[in-house]
Amino acid sequence: MTQLDLQIQDQHRPRLRALGFTPAREQEFAAYSAAGREPARVAVAHRGSLGLITASGETSAVIAGRLHHDADSASDLPVVGDWVAFDAHGGVVHAVLARTGAITRAAAGESGDPQVLAANVDVALVVTSFNHDLNVRRLERFLALAHAGGAMPVVVVNKADLVDDPAAALDAIRSVVSPAPVLATSTVLPLGIDELAASVPAGETAVLLGTSGVGKSSLTNALIGEARQAVSEIRLDDSRGRHTTTRRELVALPGGGWLIDTPGLRVPRLWAEADGVEATFVIIDALASQCRFNDCAHDGEPGCAVEAAIDAGEIDPARVEAYRKLLAERRSMAEREDARGRAARKARGRAGVQALRRYYASRD
Ligand code: GDP
Ligand code: ZN
Repeated sequence: MTQLDLQIQDQHRPRLRALGFTPAREQEFAAYSAAGREPARVAVAHRGSLGLITASGETSAVIAGRLHHDADSASDLPVVGDWVAFDAHGGVVHAVLARTGAITRAAAGESGDPQVLAANVDVALVVTSFNHDLNVRRLERFLALAHAGGAMPVVVVNKADLVDDPAAALDAIRSVVSPAPVLATSTVLPLGIDELAASVPAGETAVLLGTSGVGKSSLTNALIGEARQAVSEIRLDDSRGRHTTTRRELVALPGGGWLIDTPGLRVPRLWAEADGVEATFVIIDALASQCRFNDCAHDGEPGCAVEAAIDAGEIDPARVEAYRKLLAERRSMAEREDARGRAARKARGRAGVQALRRYYASRD
């Protein structure tokens, strides 16, 4: 092979970019390129076998034994949305590229290992509906889940056909979830579907989050539109060499964006299943970022998202007590730091919110 063959071929680059292969990923990929690997995105992941989208089409592959062996936990293995380095001739995936974020659920069970449901998600469409589901607390939890996963949330209030004055209801929600944008939709009128589609720019990847019954499947169908028929089934070979067909979970939208539609994301109580203490802390941390006050002690302050979750029976108060102790320890350590350290920490805390604001400003 010549040096030219080893690099991402120019004619492939636009297709890879459209799939979300950013210049940063291409840079990270250079080392794998040099070893003759090709970049691909995981469209569906099953035990041991993967459906991939590459610059030249769809294919299936297996996970290299070495990758299995080196993985510290299941979260190191490829999931839908991941970018991987694969050997096109052998059909073997050798490495997972760094994730820009991942929608992660604290797994139930003994390990307490987080379970990564979808990787490299840019936009989280947090869906609620105008009837039974309009629960601000729950909305806050899904927003925290989106933030923790590195995805920009867009709040989608579906079933607008069921109310006379959706605008008034939206205003109330807007004040709670700001700076996340809020859209009203109806799949029956239809209403707001174009706006929803526009919130997933070309080359970006979205997921729909929300409890069952709010209309996620209906919205998925509306977004995919006529492309629905074209959503392909993928043939996968399992470890015993048998063939199975399965529906692709990373789906192209007509506007050039991508939608991850996985059964895992449809589980209603998406993140109330935390078992491991570590995992719970991650979740409480994410919740705490939603508290009205930056320095909330989660102890009677107004607008406290952590206490709201306790009230809703979503997290165990004993865990929160342990978390409060940890916070107190962190605080007393912090008090020993110099003023400069404190300023830097504060800036980090604000950075997420500012990034969000910049992001929305840049989209106007
Ligand atoms: P999912 O569980 O979140 O995927 O929700 P589904 O898409 O299965 O929808 C649940 C129910 O709500 C179904 O009976 C849909 O027909 C209904 N539904 C979905 N979108 C709308 C809407 O915009 N307005 C009304 N009135 N019903 C809707
Ligand atoms: Zn709080």
